[in-house]
Amino acid sequence: MDARRIAVIGGGPGGLYAARLIKLACPSWEVTVYERNVDGRTFGFGVGLTPSTLRSLDEADPDSAADIRRAGHAGHGMEMRVGAGVRLPGGGNVAIGRAVLLDILRIHAVRAGVRMVTAHVDLPDLEADLIVAADGVRSGVREKLAPEFRAQVELDDALYLWAATDFALDHATFVPAHTPHGVFVVHAYPYGPDRSTFLVETDEATWRRAALDVADAHTEEGSSDERSLEYLADVFSDVLLGHRLLGNRTRWQRFATVRCGRWCHDNVALLGDAAHTAHYSIGSGTKLALEDAIALAQALVGEASIAAALERYEAIRRPWVERFQAIAARSHVWWKNFPRRLDLTPARLMTSYMTRAGNVTVDRFAEWHPDVVADAATAFGGEELSAETAADPAQLANAVLGSSIPGIGRRVVDCEDLTAFAVPLAESVTDPWGPEGAHVVARARGMLEAGARMLWLTGDGGRPAALSRCDLAERLRLDTGAVVGVDLPASLAADAVGALLGARADLVRFR
Ligand SMILES: Cc1cc2nc3c(=O)[nH]c(=O)nc-3n(C[C@H](O)[C@H](O)[C@H](O)COP(=O)(O)OP(=O)(O)OC[C@H]3O[C@@H](n4cnc5c(N)ncnc54)[C@H](O)[C@@H]3O)c2cc1C
Repeated sequence: MDARRIAVIGGGPGGLYAARLIKLACPSWEVTVYERNVDGRTFGFGVGLTPSTLRSLDEADPDSAADIRRAGHAGHGMEMRVGAGVRLPGGGNVAIGRAVLLDILRIHAVRAGVRMVTAHVDLPDLEADLIVAADGVRSGVREKLAPEFRAQVELDDALYLWAATDFALDHATFVPAHTPHGVFVVHAYPYGPDRSTFLVETDEATWRRAALDVADAHTEEGSSDERSLEYLADVFSDVLLGHRLLGNRTRWQRFATVRCGRWCHDNVALLGDAAHTAHYSIGSGTKLALEDAIALAQALVGEASIAAALERYEAIRRPWVERFQAIAARSHVWWKNFPRRLDLTPARLMTSYMTRAGNVTVDRFAEWHPDVVADAATAFGGEELSAETAADPAQLANAVLGSSIPGIGRRVVDCEDLTAFAVPLAESVTDPWGPEGAHVVARARGMLEAGARMLWLTGDGGRPAALSRCDLAERLRLDTGAVVGVDLPASLAADAVGALLGARADLVRFR
């Protein structure tokens, strides 16, 4: 391609990284980043980066990756503080302050020769061969071209507040707090020697009962909701150990899930949150934005025209992103229903958490933490299971699937006549926790009132359909209190074990 002018709207991680990589790959091109905020002024606190994200960064640009690794806070484990609690030792994740990450990316972009302009810009302001719209979740470019991008934005009904505290927790910590108004849940993790992200979630009814909607309404644009921060510091005083909660334009928000039918139109490419979001509970939005940047830069180098490069960028990235969005959607609803699982033993709750999105199977979790899976299986089946047994997928499956349930028999049934009442689940039920799921719950209630002793979810299809069925089974268990069985393909033994240990289903039938 000939020398080009590239305009990047947005100096978030996606925009800065794309600019640097494009300029490194094509030094003769003129690459400009337009960012409306002055240096260092950004929202949020620490973000987590997984080992696989760090590897992608190492490959794409070792210099900036080395600085990110150096500035990151590594090695913390995870703790679920429910009942006696359960702790997992540290993994390879690195957490880093968003402001620090942006500083590093900005310095590297400038070093590569990228021009930085502090300005709020709009499409008509720009004359460029390619416009990269990395302008975030509320992308003005996406809004302007919404029909072309076939953009859909779905706002959650639950609320979250992204705060921090001024000390480093030992572990990534998940804690529910019961108040007279309802339950609040914190996801907190250290990202520096004296900082931890402190992200609190609640449902709308609890938020209103605690009058936090009023506090929110009194919070001026651009400042932090100090009343909510005070309230939450009190609610989570046992986690904060006398430390305070810090805000950074912190106020209650509803997570926006962004999906676009197209990411590119003419010479405009959406990148990062502007094109797609993935719920923060899988900590992948920054990763996706950075990996979009890598793919876009590679496509620009490898293709003869901007149009061909944009085709390629979207073709390569879309399947990855959609896979993450599906995982994130499952994780999102898991968290929304987290307070309803608090009567599980800590090990079963941790197993449910680790397998929540279908990304990690119980076998893989048992490879890392056989003791936790052994505890979960012991609590489930009533018979002591050793960590060695739990670490062996075949032995674990035998122990869990072969255990018995009083009055019913084995957990895996192979005869039709146990099916006291079947609730057929059409494969199109993609939102077990949403309205379609509610419809099945209403039908199931009718069946139970008419005398059914248990519920059975039948159905075919591959793994996504089977995982949805397990989620629906869990909803039926929680909403109706009935014993719930589920049909699964015989090839999904690990998912069956995960569903049983994670209390999604009581019984499984392999089809
Ligand atoms: C609570 C929470 C926790 C999260 N935790 C994690 C985590 O642990 N790990 C992780 O990987 N991700 C996490 N994320 C996601 C992550 O923050 C985003 O996915 C990421 O910031 C997306 O990067 P981006 O560059 O696409 O957009 P942004 O970071 O939003 O950057 C967009 C930039 O564009 C600028 N801009 C917008 N419009 C204009 C304009 N017209 N002109 C000029 N500038 C403009 C904005 O000022 C902004 O700087 C979390 C998100 C939330 C909400």
